[in-house]
Amino acid sequence: MNAKVWLVGAGPGDPELLTLKAVRALREADVVLIDDLVNPAVLEHCTNARVVTVGKRGGCRSTPQDFIHRLMLRYTRQGKCVVRLKGGDPCIFGRGGEEAMWLRERGVEVELVNGITAGLAGATNCAVPLTLRGVSRGVTLVTAHTQDDSSLNWRALAEGGTTLVVYMGVAKLEEICQQLLDGGMAADMPVAMIENASLPQQRECRSALWRMHEDAQAFALKSPAILVIGRVAAPGQAACLAQAVSA
Ligand code: SAH
Repeated sequence: MNAKVWLVGAGPGDPELLTLKAVRALREADVVLIDDLVNPAVLEHCTNARVVTVGKRGGCRSTPQDFIHRLMLRYTRQGKCVVRLKGGDPCIFGRGGEEAMWLRERGVEVELVNGITAGLAGATNCAVPLTLRGVSRGVTLVTAHTQDDSSLNWRALAEGGTTLVVYMGVAKLEEICQQLLDGGMAADMPVAMIENASLPQQRECRSALWRMHEDAQAFALKSPAILVIGRVAAPGQAACLAQAVSA
């Protein structure tokens, strides 16, 4: 196979949520660069690959992005097929876009492979429909964490009325709550906080906007977790959905 980089989403954790295309890329890979939110169980699809662990987990020192870029370039110049394996989808808060651009600028062939992003998997596994006729006509994925600490326009999000799925929000619950309340969101807006979505250790905590920080503390919510904020996260909605699915 020709030298190239596959930027592959490994999904949220459950190895069965891997796409067939991701499996093909892993089979063909000479080298796999794996982030640490990826479940290593997916590596069973590799036939002959050297596995290199890169990335970080909550607050640990990360492998510098520049080093990862250069590593991918070096391997492709050696004629190798490289799979860069990322948690969820490579282009949802996963730097897939940046890496693809950097590599293409240097003449490297790049192919992106979707993965199921954590927000979608978490909501579905907790029977929260992110859109629901008559309840929510849209969904917005946001990250609470930015490199330059700039703030999101929380008022616009509160007023927008779509379901919000917040990534990297565990350390910022108090701020998120305050900003959304200030932006006019109802204090009793239902919230589902989902930790380790799709893994056997998945946990979910149901709450409401005004008390989500307190509830998360009592629950000892830890990263990785996503927050689903919106009427669709009301426990009653989940019961309706579970009924509809089993009918
Ligand atoms: N590209 C990834 C997101 C990477 S950002 C994706 O598409 O899913 C890392 C954040 O994703 C974490 O802080 C957390 O908010 C979320 N996340 C990743 N895996 C998760 C999981 N299994 N359960 C809950 N949240 C998860």
